[in-house]
Amino acid sequence: MPKAAPGRDFYIATADEIRAGRTTDIYFVRALDILRKAGRDHANVTAEVTTGALPNGWPWGIFCGVEEVVHLLEGKPVSLWALPEGSLFTPKTPRGIPVPVMVVEGPYGEWALFETPLLGMMCQASGIATKAARIRKLADGKQVMSFGVRRMHPGIAPLIERAVYVGGLDSITTPLGADLLGAPAMGTMPHALVIVMGGPREAFAAVHKYLEAKIPRIALVDTYYDEKTEALMAIEAIPDLAGVRLDTPASRRGNFPAIVREVRWELDLRGHKNVKIFASGSIDEASIPALLEAGVDGFGVGTSLSNAPTIDFALDLVEVDGKPAAKRGKFGGRKDLQRCPKDGTYEVGARTCPVCGSKMSPAYTQYLDHGRAAASLPPIEAIRGITLREAERASLEP
Ligand SMILES: [Zn+2]
Repeated sequence: MPKAAPGRDFYIATADEIRAGRTTDIYFVRALDILRKAGRDHANVTAEVTTGALPNGWPWGIFCGVEEVVHLLEGKPVSLWALPEGSLFTPKTPRGIPVPVMVVEGPYGEWALFETPLLGMMCQASGIATKAARIRKLADGKQVMSFGVRRMHPGIAPLIERAVYVGGLDSITTPLGADLLGAPAMGTMPHALVIVMGGPREAFAAVHKYLEAKIPRIALVDTYYDEKTEALMAIEAIPDLAGVRLDTPASRRGNFPAIVREVRWELDLRGHKNVKIFASGSIDEASIPALLEAGVDGFGVGTSLSNAPTIDFALDLVEVDGKPAAKRGKFGGRKDLQRCPKDGTYEVGARTCPVCGSKMSPAYTQYLDHGRAAASLPPIEAIRGITLREAERASLEP
């Protein structure tokens, strides 16, 4: 059997390889070699991480991935400042200055190799967390479960689950994610259970009999027959039915909200107003409002979350040995980023908020001081709390 490499079955980098700079772009390795030979690798360099714009013209993003960056750089003679993880950020300030979400400072030779992994950690996690926060807002308080792990490589399943949970989803789906995050893992039932059991009646009866008592019973009702027919089978077979899930195939969907309305009607008619309806299958921002209106109580959202567009963060040098320096198109010099505690507005060097006039506060937390922890890493519930609070007051439209 061919292998990814001797002793390796999967094409994923190990933590040690990432920390050793093995996943960097080779031009950094070569540039560093040249700088060493030229005696310039000790130059003290400050870099800022910014993005010019967000995907799809989104007005704000959720900053996620800081914890991994801290672990990437800890122990190296590097200092790190960043917005607290979970913060909402805008690409630019009201004055049009790009908002630096992170600042790295130290001898260039000590951290040059980590630009690539550092950006990868933040771009992907922030993209997924931002999408999750948008879907959370659109779902208007209804339950949202993440179903997207299967669309991405399993090596990054925990990363996806952490980002969707930070973004405000109610639950994740894998046992590993639940262990690592201390977050609830939830699921309903797969079509395979219905097929292997020989039909929906048999599957629902088996769920009733064998599913651990503390797990809420949510029946998948679109495998062989009409959703209404299978929903009625489910209420007969499972006395404590908590919900039904409609994962109606695209070829049968027609008007999905209309199917939801009909199932709701039939359940209510038989006195099952407490049985919730969950919708899944290609759910994205555009499909949520009509489903909510039709009476959906919760969503399973997959690919649109795990395949969320990444945030195009770039890392740029802004100072070398204490002197401003920047390439064309970038603002040189280290920025004194301030934030309004009242409305979250960012501005560089402002003492009062340009929007509401409140006194501004420094925007950054220092995470590393010459490689040593300068702040403790917050628990995930605290990070998620920041996102939920900040996304609540933000508008989805520019
Ligand atoms: Zn303000």
